[in-house]
Amino acid sequence: MSAHWPPPFQIRLSQRAKRILVSIHPKRGLEIVTPKRLGAQQALDIIAQHRAWIEAKLHARQSHAPHAATAWPAHQLPAHIRLPALDEHWQLVHLATTTRAQLRIDSAQRQLTLLGESEQVWGLLQRWFIAHAKAQLLPALHQLAEVHNDPLQGSGIRWNHTRWGSCSHAGRINLSARMLWLEPCEVIYVLHHELNHLHHFNHSPDFWQALEERLPGALALDHGIRHAHRRASFPEWLKLV
Ligand SMILES: [Zn+2]
Repeated sequence: MSAHWPPPFQIRLSQRAKRILVSIHPKRGLEIVTPKRLGAQQALDIIAQHRAWIEAKLHARQSHAPHAATAWPAHQLPAHIRLPALDEHWQLVHLATTTRAQLRIDSAQRQLTLLGESEQVWGLLQRWFIAHAKAQLLPALHQLAEVHNDPLQGSGIRWNHTRWGSCSHAGRINLSARMLWLEPCEVIYVLHHELNHLHHFNHSPDFWQALEERLPGALALDHGIRHAHRRASFPEWLKLV
């Protein structure tokens, strides 16, 4: 049970609430109803104080409606974001306020705080994934290009569902931000694969031979990532982003 702690929750500001309440709404799920603004840490402390009650309630709910636990309501954001590629674990708190949607990033604490309505916050989250992938994956790409003397002309990050990466004839490589959910050795593989296209603009036997020389075991990694998006490490909610 502890692996799922804390469960996803929202904070709802209510002028009518006399005090802070923790409740489980049949549709909205776990929420803190509060008359005043709460900081992310305060919110986490509050649900920690009610842990036994929350776990018992959620457990009972799950056994009465087993499907409710697997179906991800569109409005409900994850409480945790694990990024295997970077071996990072981020905590996400959603404050369901009516103010303009915004994302606060605390890199030191690896904590994200989303404010606003959930329809808008998915977009903000997606932008952060792209920015984070840009900051973390592109330097590695350029470094590898330098080591291997690859004529890399430019790079970028997209939110691509169908391909991990692509390489243009002009020498530009685009990577998918969804690579954040691959394993680190697979990320290295995709980087080598795309960089190798700067020398072989196809998937000819020469391409694969050169790739295997750059990175022994490349072929096996290629097979491994074809269906990577079906793995458990690719969270269900990614489909909603
Ligand atoms: Zn390719």
